[in-house]
Amino acid sequence: MSRARTWPKRAAALVACLLVAGTAYTWATALMDSLYDFRAPLTATVADASTSPKPTPPNPALARKVVMVLVDGLRVDTATNAAVMPFLTQLRAQGASTTVHSRTPSYSVPSWTVLLTGAWPDRHGAPVMNPTDPQTSPPWPIDNLFAAARDAGRRTGLAGTDWFRPLVPPAALSVTHFVHEETDAADQESTDAAVAMLRGDAADLVLLHLNEVDHAGHYGGGGTSVAWLDAARKVDARLAQVAAALDLSRDALLVVSDHGHLDQGGHGGPEDVVVTEPLVLVGSGVRPGVAPDIAQADVAPTLAVLAGTRVLQAAQGEAALAMLTLDDTARSALGKAQVSQQDLLIERYQADLGNVPLTTAVLASGEGVEPVRSATTAGRDAATQVRETRLGWERANRAATLILLGLVAVTSLALWVRRDRSTVLWAFAGAAAYLVVWQAYWKVSGKTYSLSSVMSAGEIVNATAMATAVALFAALAVMWRGRRPERGDRAWAVWCLGVAVATVLAMPIAFYAWAWGPTATWTVPDPLPMYLAFSALVQLLVVAVLTPLGAMVAGLVSRGRTSSQPTVNASAVRPGWTKA
Ligand SMILES: [Zn+2]
Repeated sequence: MSRARTWPKRAAALVACLLVAGTAYTWATALMDSLYDFRAPLTATVADASTSPKPTPPNPALARKVVMVLVDGLRVDTATNAAVMPFLTQLRAQGASTTVHSRTPSYSVPSWTVLLTGAWPDRHGAPVMNPTDPQTSPPWPIDNLFAAARDAGRRTGLAGTDWFRPLVPPAALSVTHFVHEETDAADQESTDAAVAMLRGDAADLVLLHLNEVDHAGHYGGGGTSVAWLDAARKVDARLAQVAAALDLSRDALLVVSDHGHLDQGGHGGPEDVVVTEPLVLVGSGVRPGVAPDIAQADVAPTLAVLAGTRVLQAAQGEAALAMLTLDDTARSALGKAQVSQQDLLIERYQADLGNVPLTTAVLASGEGVEPVRSATTAGRDAATQVRETRLGWERANRAATLILLGLVAVTSLALWVRRDRSTVLWAFAGAAAYLVVWQAYWKVSGKTYSLSSVMSAGEIVNATAMATAVALFAALAVMWRGRRPERGDRAWAVWCLGVAVATVLAMPIAFYAWAWGPTATWTVPDPLPMYLAFSALVQLLVVAVLTPLGAMVAGLVSRGRTSSQPTVNASAVRPGWTKA
């Protein structure tokens, strides 16, 4: 009898497959859930912020009214296309402009939060994915532009999607107008409401959110489609309408987006086109010209300076001084305020992460050459160090488990090779073919290795399952071509291939588990290893289902052929059979 022929072996193999499939499913689901449920640990930050007195603004406002137009999803190439957005082009020529760099996950809710708090997803405490039900988002737990503007005596207004309603603490907003659609009409309604707030002096710090461009990216054919360009043209007209409600010799207008879109539509991942955004700033307090690139976390601090608020307490970014007309005295005052804010912020971060020590002195206090830059740079370095230190502890703890599992895997592999060297080698050749075909299929389908390609959980699982099935067939073809198993050994060959592919898939999963932990807990994992692990888990699930099915079919076909062509004696087949 050939291997895996006898029923206890078959039953054991089947149970193993079920276990692998069950684990892969549970883990992949838990990984995604952990991203949806992720909230930065902010115990110390929130407790401190609620007890400590708020600092006073370091400088008076640079602009009377400050308006931020957030064009959801607008790409840099669209924003700089004068044929599509002539008015924005005119504003750019008249004012300051730059390119903004954001971080993953590049979804709307986390990015809006960065734009209005200056804190990154790892630290802002808001969802890092778009919530399944946006109306259940918790309010921002940290300092934000609206709250700081209110405390500075401003009246704040927000016109745009009702996704903002639960996010912004109600006390931080004087006047709101929420829309419930992502249409042309909804954008016009929001624009009219914002203009009314400005003209009627109901608010002097206003956020206008426009959604139709993003909608066209998702549902109208992607980031270069006709619907997209059409929506961008309408945004341009709305910008003109907003500008007409302002006196740009006294007021300031900022236009920015939260993330980009792939050509085929979609965002969430780290693709350049998705994490690079346009920014135009024009009006009072603005130094015209093309400014050096800034980070998304710099936008809120920049608006805070224009609006004359305190330094945002949780901001990890800094005001884009190249775009502002701040004199030396004002810069110095801002710099001092930012030094103490950054020192406090990093202390809270250390406490939030379990009193992680700083191994080298990177805090800003006492540095004075260019205090604003040094304070936030030092804060950034300190934050990196705190995060890396804790990651280092956890990786050291997990290394032992990983080494143990690795030893078990290597030993099993050695035993397996000893048993049937040739089949095992050809199975791994098949696994290599699997990888090549899988990547090719994914690329041809226009997908990237990131959340940007994920439209929905069902869609990604289907696409992955399809790619996996196709790649498995290719792997089988390679193995058959090389090994040409005898009839009685075909089922065994299929099993070997399944195990080889599973072994290869286990590697990105093991690496991710070691580097970031099985799921996201206190920090947002790097996007590529996380996506590769997630994808590998879904593939593993499919492999664990298809392998026993394939082996069964191979066994049945062999048996059928054997009965009609009784020239082959299956029981005579042994490891080391020669190539046919
Ligand atoms: Zn968005």
